[in-house]
Amino acid sequence: MINLKTNHEIELMARAGGLLGEVAEKLREAVRPGIRTEELDRLADSLIRATGGRPGFLGYQGFPKSICISVNDEAVHGIPGRRRVEAGDLVSLDLGLVLDGFWADMGITVPAGKVSSEAQRLVRVTDEALYAGIEQARPGNRLGDVSSAIQQHVEAAGFSVIRQFVGHGIGRQMHEDPQVPNFGAPHTGPELRPGMTLAIEPMVNAGGFEVYIKPDGWTVCTTDGSLSAYSEHTIAVTAEGPRILTATPSAAQGLRAAG
Ligand code: MG
Repeated sequence: MINLKTNHEIELMARAGGLLGEVAEKLREAVRPGIRTEELDRLADSLIRATGGRPGFLGYQGFPKSICISVNDEAVHGIPGRRRVEAGDLVSLDLGLVLDGFWADMGITVPAGKVSSEAQRLVRVTDEALYAGIEQARPGNRLGDVSSAIQQHVEAAGFSVIRQFVGHGIGRQMHEDPQVPNFGAPHTGPELRPGMTLAIEPMVNAGGFEVYIKPDGWTVCTTDGSLSAYSEHTIAVTAEGPRILTATPSAAQGLRAAG
């Protein structure tokens, strides 16, 4: 069942999301060669707690850290640890914040130092795919319009979308109905209605879409070892169109470019 939010609930989610957007911008600045992923995790934990919220991923289904950090061929759900970021790495950060009972969920992929032109293109296409999907999140459209916009943008660039993991409805729970795949056919799926809140999150591989899970039980990697990038916003479907709740200055810009 899709749980529609009231305007008041959407404002609460926007408050959580705005604070998480600020955290993400600070973490983007902190990603640099030499830093350990567990240092980024500790920084994220303190920045999130300083907002008055809590890091939602900590302890979620047993996840041991406050954020997920996935490097290079790691796609999503990487566990921060002793690994040092190296120049040329792609570092994906997945952040969750819970405030006043509501979740905000967002993700960014940050190049560390100078990365290859292929890596730069992967990050750009992933961000563009996110905004192309968000642009479709408006009343009258169907969920498949969001999914197919993402898939088409990614595949036109010669990359692939992961099938095994998908975006999701979000609110008082991190995972609510509906699932939001990054692939699908236009004009299919549930009709989008004002009050729906979604975490839209393209997970894009430079090579094939197949992934496997490492023995740690969490880290999702590309089977062919190709690079993977990730980008996520929590959004609300409103009568006026899509509203990005995990808003950052670059979010407004990205949506304008897609519209
Ligand atoms: Mg998510």
